[in-house]
Amino acid sequence: MREISQLIDVGKYLLTNQLAWGTSGNVSARTDKDTMIITASGTHMGNLSESDFAHCKISTGEVAGEKKASKETPMHIGIYRQRDDVNAILHSSPFNTTIFACSDTPIYSELFVESMYYLEHIAYVDYYHPGSMQLADAVTEQAPYANIIIMRHHGVVVYDKNVAEALVRLETLEIVCKMILQAKAAGVQLTKIPDKIVKSFLEDSGYRVRQKLPILK
Ligand SMILES: [Zn+2]
Repeated sequence: MREISQLIDVGKYLLTNQLAWGTSGNVSARTDKDTMIITASGTHMGNLSESDFAHCKISTGEVAGEKKASKETPMHIGIYRQRDDVNAILHSSPFNTTIFACSDTPIYSELFVESMYYLEHIAYVDYYHPGSMQLADAVTEQAPYANIIIMRHHGVVVYDKNVAEALVRLETLEIVCKMILQAKAAGVQLTKIPDKIVKSFLEDSGYRVRQKLPILK
């Protein structure tokens, strides 16, 4: 299955590039309208094999096969239910992003071309225990308003139309967080691109087709 090999590759990439570590995090992909595959419970992201995935029905949450799905499956299902356009979800706790997740400091996007595009919509949810229905509900509620959800004191979940785009989104987020932190530590003052230019970039530059999402709550 094409999606399984994409997720195996992305798992390796996340570990190699310090976008995930240990057994934390999980990844999933929609394989048809009502089916998703997700990493099974206890799997190691850098070393996934075909048998490390559980197959779930999106409408019912029912799991096929004997693999136990990641305990964070309800959060993934919630996103797929809210967003027909989403076919891949990555959840991890990259170092620099998680520093922001553990603070009240907002992440800003008005820095460079990719950050304006990929970080246009970021949502935040409070801390709830991993795998809890409260966390799944909070993420599901925000899913229509962003493609990046920072989970306080936990990590981040990003999603997109395919695995490759979701990965670029996660990498861009981590790079921006690293830039903000390193600039601050080095005493370099970053300047934001003015709102008017950001608006013109998003609306008129033709860089990429802009994602039309409802306004962030
Ligand atoms: Zn988690």
